[in-house]
Amino acid sequence: MAAILEVDHLSKRYGSGTSALNDVSLDINEGEIVALLGPNGAGKTTLISIICGLVVPTSGTVRVGGHDIRTDWRAARKMIGLVPQEIALEPFEKVIDCVRYTRGLYGLPPDEAYVEQLLRSLALWDKREARTRELSGGMKRRVLIAKALSHRPKVLFLDEPTAGVDVTLRREMWTVVRELRAQGVTIILTTHYLEEAEDMADRIGVINHGQLLLMRPKSELMGEFGKKRLVLDLY
Ligand code: ATP
Repeated sequence: MAAILEVDHLSKRYGSGTSALNDVSLDINEGEIVALLGPNGAGKTTLISIICGLVVPTSGTVRVGGHDIRTDWRAARKMIGLVPQEIALEPFEKVIDCVRYTRGLYGLPPDEAYVEQLLRSLALWDKREARTRELSGGMKRRVLIAKALSHRPKVLFLDEPTAGVDVTLRREMWTVVRELRAQGVTIILTTHYLEEAEDMADRIGVINHGQLLLMRPKSELMGEFGKKRLVLDLY
């Protein structure tokens, strides 16, 4: 399988002196779901933010589809979609316009057929004329996913998609993620929940204190460490 994402020796030291990421290397294959598990402050968001071009690394390289984000950012950017941790939506904007607008930001021409397909696949079509402030928390998260997929990226990053949501919503999000993978999207998500990583991912990476402690197929990890040991090591 080809690696769609290659991260090599990535480090980040913030101005405050915090070493948020320390020599992280990983490859993600096309079509995989990878969960990055780690406690608060582990460095998960920093890693995703660097890959998505929001934070400049101190050292190391990132390639998306073979495109180096430092030298070939335009090409790399088209391949990436990010669903941020915070729900930031324009409250008075209509659902359908959120997606159209985001496509526009990528300089893409309108594609109403794709927008409809996207909203239908996320069960948002019936709500397309609703203002985002009228939506439930779960629907708002799905709008964020629709926005992130508006330019048909190959790799989707979900930064703690289920932080602070109840069990029903969490399960709904898992279903959405599995459906996206079935459509061929490679998915990298961060989470605090072992259960979530275990349920959804093909591979699980464990990050703590800015280091990637391990990255292994889920089945291998669960067999070898057992849940209890993994949780104890993490927290
Ligand atoms: P959480 O699960 O709480 O979101 P995380 O694993 O995503 O945590 P990061 O947000 O990447 O962790 O933070 C890693 C470290 O870097 C933390 O010590 C954090 O305080 C620090 N940090 C993050 N952003 C900045 C910043 N802009 N300036 C200074 N330090 C930062």
